Amino acid sequence: MTLSKRFKRTAGRIIAAACALACTMSLAACGQDEAGKIRIGIKFDQPGLGFKKSGTYVGFDVDVAKYIAKKLGYSEDEIIWKEAPSKQREAMLQNGDVDMILATYSITDERKKAVSFAGPYFVAGQDLLVRKDDQSINGPEDLNGKRLCSVTGSTSAATVKEKFASEVQLMEQPGYAECATALFSGIVDAVTTDDIILAGLASASRGKLRVVGKPFTQEYYGVGIKKGDTQFATKINNAIVDMIQDGSWENAISDNTKGTNYTPDVRYNPPTPDEGEDA
Ligand code: GLU
Repeated sequence: MTLSKRFKRTAGRIIAAACALACTMSLAACGQDEAGKIRIGIKFDQPGLGFKKSGTYVGFDVDVAKYIAKKLGYSEDEIIWKEAPSKQREAMLQNGDVDMILATYSITDERKKAVSFAGPYFVAGQDLLVRKDDQSINGPEDLNGKRLCSVTGSTSAATVKEKFASEVQLMEQPGYAECATALFSGIVDAVTTDDIILAGLASASRGKLRVVGKPFTQEYYGVGIKKGDTQFATKINNAIVDMIQDGSWENAISDNTKGTNYTPDVRYNPPTPDEGEDA
């Protein structure tokens, strides 16, 4: 064998070995490691709802997700948390990246074309967040000429385009934390999304931001699942009913809204998960 042939053969073996290792590693990262676990999509940047805090996950959505997972037979260390930004939720379920999503995810007919929902497990309302010292915005009727921020792929942005398109300027961001930053720095006059999300941001702002408190929609938070999995929806709904009945739902709400001045609208909360709803 010539030296060059031997070199080529060795090089080939090294490459093959490297490939095998890479395959094993990627399988471990996105396949084998996940066996026997449940993958749940949540927000990572919404204080009080879904928030990543030095490697742990906290918030109301996280508590509801843990409760459901437990009823489905998964311990907390059998949960794989994945970030599910507003715009990516349908695709994540369609691609099979996650088994369920609890990410302040409103049940809508439009979304039901792509995914199914269990729930609802909470009802919020779209509201406005402004700088503490700004007295000019006290409800949706004061939005004429204002600059708003909301999130791409959210019902909040869709509602602005539907109801206030002619009078406001809308800036869209990937997450509400970015919108809050834009509000601090004066790039926009208000952030708009669900009141419970805004309450968490206001509280995190240490008094610099305030929620207006005039909700103008109803947002029914569902558990997003793969389209058509009615059996899974029924199991999740049973877990939600249990959570409400045994007091865990109430505890989760009060724990996660502590110090925010937020109370859920009792006309709609706690909701009744739709039994037999066309999931
Ligand atoms: N609940 C609304 C939605 O599903 C707004 C909150 C969010 O973007 O997660 O779009």
